[in-house]
Amino acid sequence: MIPAAFEYHRPKDIEAALGLLQTHGDEARVLAGGHSLIPMMKLRMAAIEHLIDLRDIAHLRDIRIEGTNIHIGAMVTQAELIGHDGLARVAPILREAALQIADPQVRYMGTVGGNVANGDPGNDMPGLMQALDAVFTLAGPDGDREVAARDFYEAAYMTAREDDEILTAIRFQVSAGGYAYEKQKRKIGDYATAAAAVVITRDGDKVASASIAMTNLSDTPVWSESAAAALIGTRCDADAIKTATDAALADIDPNEDNRGPVEFKRHVAGIIISRAIARAWSRA
Ligand code: FAD
Repeated sequence: MIPAAFEYHRPKDIEAALGLLQTHGDEARVLAGGHSLIPMMKLRMAAIEHLIDLRDIAHLRDIRIEGTNIHIGAMVTQAELIGHDGLARVAPILREAALQIADPQVRYMGTVGGNVANGDPGNDMPGLMQALDAVFTLAGPDGDREVAARDFYEAAYMTAREDDEILTAIRFQVSAGGYAYEKQKRKIGDYATAAAAVVITRDGDKVASASIAMTNLSDTPVWSESAAAALIGTRCDADAIKTATDAALADIDPNEDNRGPVEFKRHVAGIIISRAIARAWSRA
């Protein structure tokens, strides 16, 4: 289908983009890669009168690695994440997760900022960013503020971002540990039936720290504090993985849809979470 008519804006800086958002209010929306928003407009599930394209705002494409501090601009595409050797070295889970998003065509256009700002429970980056304990920078009329990824998601398509704010960057710290992003999907290019991001550090033969988050198993991504607590101090053996997986499953609330009934999703989630923990530990 063809979307309803809209006016297209292409500001050169963030101030101009924020000004357009203020001027047009509810009738405006920012456009990043367009691979979630344009399909919604074509299906007439979203009618936007003013599209504010962020692609000419150069600093939104920055990637900076300063020691253990990572900064990723909102308009960095998933393909750029995958192709960035510095990021692959310090935070290889980004490449592992991004490679499981859709297909190369979508990844050439889809941005990290669009993926995390969208609020779709099926998006893979929000859970990943919760596992990494990332912080999102939001620019608004009163300046910048920061919101932790773990506090950002309120319900499906509802986030802590106000309508007059633009997500400009994501930052997080890397740790020398193991990681895994595991995803089960029906076919290439599909959203997750269940996915899990796990980051683990070790102290000798024991788990020193753990972070576990899940995708498409509730209305929001789910970061499971109790699953992580169940692993810390253990040798990450089969019993510990089973206890942590059970704790993670207690935190999710999947819906029945065309990817399967609730019981099936819980079953798949259990396998995905266990595999992600075991693989992260094997790399820690
Ligand atoms: P857009 O579509 O441009 O924007 C999405 C929403 O976020 C809009 O509401 C927009 O206003 C808002 N937004 C965008 N950027 C900002 C910003 N900087 N600040 C504030 N608001 C902003 N995604 C996955 O994670 N996993 C998948 O498996 C997957 N499969 C897909 C398969 C297909 C066939 C397609 C078409 C898409 C798929 N996607 C998947 C979605 C894809 O990754 C999108 O690109 C992504 O969800 C949104 O990023 P975008 O840059 O395209 O954002």
